[in-house]
Amino acid sequence: MPHITAGLRRRARRVRFALAAIAVAGSLGCAPSFALDVPALKAQIGAVLDQSYPELDALYKDLHRHPELSFQEVETARRLAAEMRRLGFEVTEGVGKTGIVAILRNGPGPMVLVRTELDALPMEEKTGLSYASRSKAVWNGKETFVAHSCGHDIHMAAWVGTAKALVATKAQWHGTLMFVGQPAEEGGHGARRMLEDGLFTRFGKPDAGFALHVGPGPYGEIGYRPGVFSSSADSLQIGFHGKGAHGSMPSASIDPVVMASRFVLDVQTVVSREKDAGAFGVVTIGAIQGGTAANIIPDNVVVRGTVRSYEEDVRRKLHAGIVRTAKAVADMAGAPEPDIRITDDYNAVINDDALTARTAEVFQAAFGDKVKRRPTPTPASEDYSDFVMAGVPSLYFGLGALDPRDIAAARKAGKPVPVNHSPFFAPVPEPTIRTAVEAMSLAVLNVLQ
Ligand SMILES: [Zn+2]
Ligand SMILES: [Zn+2]
Repeated sequence: MPHITAGLRRRARRVRFALAAIAVAGSLGCAPSFALDVPALKAQIGAVLDQSYPELDALYKDLHRHPELSFQEVETARRLAAEMRRLGFEVTEGVGKTGIVAILRNGPGPMVLVRTELDALPMEEKTGLSYASRSKAVWNGKETFVAHSCGHDIHMAAWVGTAKALVATKAQWHGTLMFVGQPAEEGGHGARRMLEDGLFTRFGKPDAGFALHVGPGPYGEIGYRPGVFSSSADSLQIGFHGKGAHGSMPSASIDPVVMASRFVLDVQTVVSREKDAGAFGVVTIGAIQGGTAANIIPDNVVVRGTVRSYEEDVRRKLHAGIVRTAKAVADMAGAPEPDIRITDDYNAVINDDALTARTAEVFQAAFGDKVKRRPTPTPASEDYSDFVMAGVPSLYFGLGALDPRDIAAARKAGKPVPVNHSPFFAPVPEPTIRTAVEAMSLAVLNVLQ
């Protein structure tokens, strides 16, 4: 839709302007990004890590043992808030229900956002690790196991570690740190809740933002990508309304089962015939509900599905095609208009080109060929995108978390490597947390120096 495209364009202009402002601020008094003394800073961060790593390891394992579900991250938030207060941050709890905001002002300069998620998943951990979770909690009215199977506990330990490194190198940068502990990343719209609770109006709007996510790659590796990093994810629900009748008298009915069936097949031509063949886009119908017995034509059928894409215009095209197909199918059957609900659940994470380029330069200087530019975005989704859409030019990057020998052994045996959300996903804390702290600290210093 045109107004959305125009909105995006306006936002992109604002983002470019903000970055230009940072670049100008940099050129006035400080060294440009490529003059950052990366080896010296990396050594300094390494020294902080040597000293604080046992604490970070203990924090990680404690968080891992005591995971909490979306919007239930009370102890997790309290724990992190205490860590940040000890480091001299001004901490506000309960932002967006269970989120925390930790601010450290260190003279004039840009404000940089560093985000971690706080939540875990309603599933049983089966890693067999000595610090594996056996925690349980109530989720949708039912007791369930809880596990940090997405690695958000690694992100939290790295977030605290980065704060420690930046406090220790305080004499070498100017500006403001905004460390955000975001609740409910796993489907609860925690980022949106924090924004609605005034994250950027109460605490200021950051000039740049960073977030990272661990994945099943080899530890030590960093993956980045300018532009689209992860997909948008939307959900659709369509209620087809027909007219029920006896199964032996279809002419007395308007059959919503037939409508739903036709829709499921026809909607795929939106993907195969309307969308640019080279662009990523998926429409999946994952549920059809209707009817009670073999010989009754029901009144209503509901279909539910998910829509994924990387680009906003593809997303809008898919949405429009779904609406058109659903309406046409009902019209063909002589049925009333269906109820169509398509909700924008997750926007794609769009990395800022300029911030990505200048950070990648620093990453390459620090980690060499362990830094990989990803050829394609990831089909997963992330609500960090809400902070980007709110106008914070950002870099969201990936980090390997598994032992390369384990990956090689699994490959040799023809077995899949456990990925995020697998009960067997087991990031290796060291060196993953160390690499995360080094990368995140350097990324922030590169904006604040
Ligand atoms: Zn996850
Ligand atoms: Zn995650």
